[in-house]
Amino acid sequence: MVLMRFMSVLSVFGLALLTMSPAGAEDGVEVRIDEKSPALHMIVGKQSVFAVPAFEDYMEMFFDLCDAMELKIGGECQIYPMNAEIGLNAIATEQEGNRLIVYDRRLSPEVGYEGAMMIIAHELGHHYCHHLGKLEDPNLELEADRFAGAAMRNAGHKLDDALAAVHILDERPSKSHPARADRIAAITEGWNQPSLGKQCR
Ligand SMILES: [Zn+2]
Repeated sequence: MVLMRFMSVLSVFGLALLTMSPAGAEDGVEVRIDEKSPALHMIVGKQSVFAVPAFEDYMEMFFDLCDAMELKIGGECQIYPMNAEIGLNAIATEQEGNRLIVYDRRLSPEVGYEGAMMIIAHELGHHYCHHLGKLEDPNLELEADRFAGAAMRNAGHKLDDALAAVHILDERPSKSHPARADRIAAITEGWNQPSLGKQCR
């Protein structure tokens, strides 16, 4: 089942790669990252990175989350998980009409499997709530966090699992991101009451 879903994403991407990749790139794409790419825990400067379709672990997490939040349209999630080195971060972005989640696998030793899944869920929340292109606003992060809490609960994970990555979040608030304590509260809120996860404001 997982393998079939994995293959279908690859084939969709195979088509996309033809139009997205620069000459010579065969197994990945250049992804532009800018201020329209909501990131997990810090602003990413404008840059271009080389991203590959997500490795199988991350693909599985993504499909579990997509299933748990009932996001499939015509049997597909319509969002593509990818891996790239982006400064120990994760982003939601869009390129050539493709909605992408890019996750830096080097985060995983710090946050573990569940933490990685929560981070991907958070980025999925940015897509679900259509945050791309909006002005930076800590409330958008809290919305993505509530979504992530709900998605982890619906995918059968404990609250501790949903909170497995919070130690990497900034303790103090910034212009774009809430303080860690507020984010923990939002994740917990979504986990406790999953119906809140899809209530984008
Ligand atoms: Zn975010």
